[in-house]
Amino acid sequence: MNSELWIEEKLEDFLGLRIRVEKTLFSGKSPFQSVDVVETRGHGKMLLNDGLIMVTERDEFSYHDMITHVPLFVHPNPKKVLVIGGGDGGTAREVIRHPSIEKCTMVEIDEMVVNACKEYIPQTSSKLNDPKVDLIIGDGVKFVEEAAKTGDRYDVILVDSTDPIGPAQPLFGHEFYENIFKALSDDGIVVSQGESPFYQTTMQNKLVQILHDTFPIVSIYNFSNLTYPGGLWSFTFGSKKYHPTNDFKSDRVEQSGLDFEYYNAEVHNAAFALPTFMRKRLGQWLKDR
Ligand code: SAM
Repeated sequence: MNSELWIEEKLEDFLGLRIRVEKTLFSGKSPFQSVDVVETRGHGKMLLNDGLIMVTERDEFSYHDMITHVPLFVHPNPKKVLVIGGGDGGTAREVIRHPSIEKCTMVEIDEMVVNACKEYIPQTSSKLNDPKVDLIIGDGVKFVEEAAKTGDRYDVILVDSTDPIGPAQPLFGHEFYENIFKALSDDGIVVSQGESPFYQTTMQNKLVQILHDTFPIVSIYNFSNLTYPGGLWSFTFGSKKYHPTNDFKSDRVEQSGLDFEYYNAEVHNAAFALPTFMRKRLGQWLKDR
């Protein structure tokens, strides 16, 4: 009898990513999604929302380094950062490592994700109680709509969201990005989880088109993520003033004294070098040359 337990994340009806599971640590159903934390055989602890892999301890550094440090090293003096989603805490953890940061506001809709990660994945959640992190349990769409009205301004906004399912659906819409634009300072930058450049081209095209309609500088960059389907993943980059590579002062990375696992100045520049198939598909909407 084979007693091995494997979790399989399916992409549409033709691809599966399998990870061996040692035991289930938490399993719950929130008003928004199912939330599971499991101990895997080779990837440490893993968070799944609605059966989709969010983070694993082994490779979360690539996602969190690249969503955070790319915009925070392009912006010359980021003080106020807003994270939408990001319930595992990995993005906020990286944001507050930058000494210029005065406050990182994080708006996560699902308290169950936060609590499960606080209890079972301290590697990502350990800084959620830091005084610089202002954790708000609420809908990021409504929060940004309010911020756009009240004149609250952020230097950098990071949209660390799930795929466009359920409450994350409006995070991939026009209106959300119009409000993001208003909630950013005059030299603000937004970076968003940008889906797979191989498999989720419809959604990636849509996101880049929205940015094209909203921001004067628009780009997209890639990084490797072992536990997302296909392994290559993207972040979109919308900016009011700073170009992602021309305005990137690489010396600042070394001068910061920060130590990274994935990010460095060479990776920063290289990530924006798009494979031809992406440039062909997205070039019409990019504003990065
Ligand atoms: N790195 C992950 C990925 O792309 O697979 C995303 C990590 S984080 C767990 C994503 C979070 O976004 C989830 O916890 C989810 O609850 C949250 N989220 C989804 N829609 C949201 C909304 N409208 N407002 C705030 N948070 C939202």
